[in-house]
Amino acid sequence: MRAGDTPAKDGQAAFRDALIAAGLLIPTGVDGLYGRSGVFEDVVERFGDLIAAWGGDDGADVMRFPPALARNQFERSGYLKSFPHLAGTVHAFKGDERAHQSLLRRLEEGEEWTDAQMATSVVLTPAACYPVYPTLAERGPLPAEGALVDVYSYCFRHEPSLDPARMQLFRMREYVRAGTPEQVIAFRQSWVERGRALMESLALPVAVDLANDPFFGRAGRMLAANQRDQGLKFELLIPIASQDQPTACLSFNYHQDHFGLLWDLRTPDGAVAHTACVGFGMERVALALFRHHGFDVKAWPAAVRAVLWG
Ligand code: ATP
Ligand code: ZN
Ligand code: MG
Repeated sequence: MRAGDTPAKDGQAAFRDALIAAGLLIPTGVDGLYGRSGVFEDVVERFGDLIAAWGGDDGADVMRFPPALARNQFERSGYLKSFPHLAGTVHAFKGDERAHQSLLRRLEEGEEWTDAQMATSVVLTPAACYPVYPTLAERGPLPAEGALVDVYSYCFRHEPSLDPARMQLFRMREYVRAGTPEQVIAFRQSWVERGRALMESLALPVAVDLANDPFFGRAGRMLAANQRDQGLKFELLIPIASQDQPTACLSFNYHQDHFGLLWDLRTPDGAVAHTACVGFGMERVALALFRHHGFDVKAWPAAVRAVLWG
């Protein structure tokens, strides 16, 4: 989303209510936390297969992580510098019996009880690609052809919203590339084109635009401006809950040597590796399909059904 945008709350809430009424989203009482119906999940799965059909021949190394990072990796990743407001840490009870009694009493009396919880060594994954960089670095210098990784994970971001397309827990499918600047830039360019063609094959109205991440605070505004000036982030946008504020459904990010430096990831000649990733928001794509083709998947255009269900 662009800085200064004020979301059209009414339209977002109305679309969310309609999705819930149709049974596609299952409410939990928490904004941004939903269950999903079998129909919704089928669309997500079929879209996952479509991504594989477009990207599968590139020979990506598949890695699947649980939706959590080791806390020491998270601390080193720099996430807290840029996005402290979005992070979610896992805490657990570590007290004795007395502390347990006190917890139960406070729970019973409707008092705050969570201050007895202590940080664990687990942090929720904020972006599917985060575990990839330390994993690659651990393996030593990259091979000459660099690395290409396919990751898929639930991600957590503390951004509760009435917009059903802005969830707190959602799935991100990514291709991550590491190598020389030339390899990484070529990868991102090819995905900007492929991503657009892939989404157009689903008869969705798409626009690709320059974007920035929601860096925190005053220093963050400069980081965001710099990211835009250098053209480091592009998004593929589709109107979902609002016509005039389309939603990012795919992101194309060039990190330059940011993660290479952080994790000491190197190319065979000893240079710091560059990295890029392309991320698909699985729920957002499903929501875009429901928005544009209707809630009844059997009534979707035949061409779209053919692309997804063959
Ligand atoms: P936005 O600008 O809408 O906040 P973003 O720039 O934060 O999106 P990325 O960090 O690039 O998004 O994440 C990659 C992809 O994950 C996005 O293109 C989007 O499809 C999806 N995504 C991001 N945040 C959410 C969310 N809160 N709920 C659902 N999907 C999301
Ligand atoms: Zn990524
Ligand atoms: Mg965001």
